[in-house]
Amino acid sequence: MDCAAENELKVDVLVVGTEVAGAKAAIEAHAQGATVLAVTKGAMGRSGATVLAGAGVQAPIGHADPRDNEEVFFSDVVKGGAFLNNQKLVERLVNLAGSEVLKIEQWGAKLIKTRDGKFLQKQLPGSSYPRSLAAVGGSGGLQWRKALREEFKRQGIAPIEDFFVTKLLLSRGRAAGAVGVSLADGRIVVVRSKTTILATGGCGQLFRRTDTPSGATGDGMTLAFHAGAGLQDMEFHQFFPYHAYGPPGREHIAVGPLRYALHAKLYNSRGEEFLENYIPSNKGWGLRDPTSRAIFMENEAGRGSPSGGAYLSVAHLPHNMVRDTLKALAPYLLSKAEKLGIDLCREAFEIGPVVHYTLGGIRIDEGCETGVPGLMAVGESTGGIDGAERIDGGTAICWGLTTGHVAGKAAAERAKELDWLPVEREEAALERNRIETLYSRREGVKGCDIKEKVKDIMWEKCGLVRDRAGLEEGLKLIRRIKEDDVPRMSVPGQSRCFNVGLVDALEAENLVTLAELALSSALMREESRRAHYRRDFPVANNRHWLKNIVVRRVDGKYVFDAVTPVMHKMQPPDEAAPEQN
Ligand SMILES: Cc1cc2nc3c(=O)[nH]c(=O)nc-3n(C[C@H](O)[C@H](O)[C@H](O)COP(=O)(O)OP(=O)(O)OC[C@H]3O[C@@H](n4cnc5c(N)ncnc54)[C@H](O)[C@@H]3O)c2cc1C
Repeated sequence: MDCAAENELKVDVLVVGTEVAGAKAAIEAHAQGATVLAVTKGAMGRSGATVLAGAGVQAPIGHADPRDNEEVFFSDVVKGGAFLNNQKLVERLVNLAGSEVLKIEQWGAKLIKTRDGKFLQKQLPGSSYPRSLAAVGGSGGLQWRKALREEFKRQGIAPIEDFFVTKLLLSRGRAAGAVGVSLADGRIVVVRSKTTILATGGCGQLFRRTDTPSGATGDGMTLAFHAGAGLQDMEFHQFFPYHAYGPPGREHIAVGPLRYALHAKLYNSRGEEFLENYIPSNKGWGLRDPTSRAIFMENEAGRGSPSGGAYLSVAHLPHNMVRDTLKALAPYLLSKAEKLGIDLCREAFEIGPVVHYTLGGIRIDEGCETGVPGLMAVGESTGGIDGAERIDGGTAICWGLTTGHVAGKAAAERAKELDWLPVEREEAALERNRIETLYSRREGVKGCDIKEKVKDIMWEKCGLVRDRAGLEEGLKLIRRIKEDDVPRMSVPGQSRCFNVGLVDALEAENLVTLAELALSSALMREESRRAHYRRDFPVANNRHWLKNIVVRRVDGKYVFDAVTPVMHKMQPPDEAAPEQN
């Protein structure tokens, strides 16, 4: 890395985000001989969703069932996504999944093996065969974190932490680097790069109830959008149905393994199993969004739990089986329950849906290119891999590792042919002014207050069940915040050292932009498909809506288009027939 001038850095490849997708991209680019700078607005290994990940990661290696392979994985992902996936992209990633997932094991992540030395693989909703590898100890996040940080050390890659990227710089239409704030001292820094990779994660913080980390504010999506890239499928946000809802003290217990490892049953407040009433073909084993919606509907019918959820229980299973399984697959859950005096074998947990994963995002092709020359995107910041729904069992970590591989290699190779482009000083100066204005405004609206308002609006108007009236109302409220509050945002306190108010303000503006795009896309899609459910259009309409909604910024205006997905390999069984959600 070159320090060309004070507050200016020069690298071949800039990677924004240091978690599974960003770290993998940085390692691959470094292996090609490029100078790489990986930055994060937090600390590496605990700044994104990656460290929170559960045990699973999908790889079609066929250890548990030799019938599983890349073709079957491809077909499961496309069917799960209700055909809105970019099939060329999915095809490339599933073909890389076996090798790239196992690389992380070589770097130090521990995965459970069976007695004969094969990897343990479990079958979860959406997969035709057992495909989900399981991290030792039940917390994949800790394993991925350890392995990636160790590989960084081995390769001598030093991330820059607490560095918030606020703008991408363009030169003659090409990505030329970025502006960021060093949060430790408030310095505004220009990074000049030949290629840039966004690995900034999702935007789950748009919603009131979410299990995503506080930094999941979709910064990379707005960075790319303002730089001219398209965003797609912004109406699709995955809800996870098995989040502990209460009572107080129990909300932070990850009870997912009760469902995934033990097939726990779901009950309503009358003690009735209800899932099959909503998803009859799935024998009580539905994908996440239809399951979440079933819980929502039971609450609407007055059969929910006190906090708006349902009950999850393994009381029907032999107690020794429950204990042995959890000891092997999720030991933390056993010890946590013991500490809190909960009898896992007898008691039911109150659970319910939370926003968990962003299905849409930066539109990329099978090379992870955004269409803005020199700008790539990877991991959860992207759209087009999962389509309308992500299948269970660990595809996100798999996509992080595989997109990281594709983009990291290509970005480094491209950088060899390029020189640094001159950065338009005016662009950097404008960004500097924007941040200085935020710091200096004494009175106004706090970013944290805007975030709270956005969360409530999105949860109520753009949640599990949507309709025209609610979406229009939501859009009106968000546009009011955009016009009245955002221009008056201020940063409380004058400190330049880790001023949380500045981070809140920058993130709040991004969330307002993304909320408007999500609501507008949800309003435009007049059908129901997996994660997007319209009460006023309750069935899928393949004839009109086998489309991705793509939005771009053209001359300052938002332009929405409905575009046919890349479907070179697999078509829906009958294109004209409405598919049930
Ligand atoms: C509770 C939970 C459990 C999950 N369990 C699983 C599982 O078992 N299996 C599975 O496959 N998936 C799971 N997922 C999903 C998966 O963890 C994520 O999709 C994946 O880790 C995302 O990786 P990423 O690298 O794309 O983004 P993230 O891990 O979110 O990282 C984003 C990075 O970008 C940085 N960043 C963002 N904005 C900026 C900015 N403006 N400037 C600088 N840096 C920035 C962040 O600081 C961070 O370093 C789970 C998710 C959650 C929330």
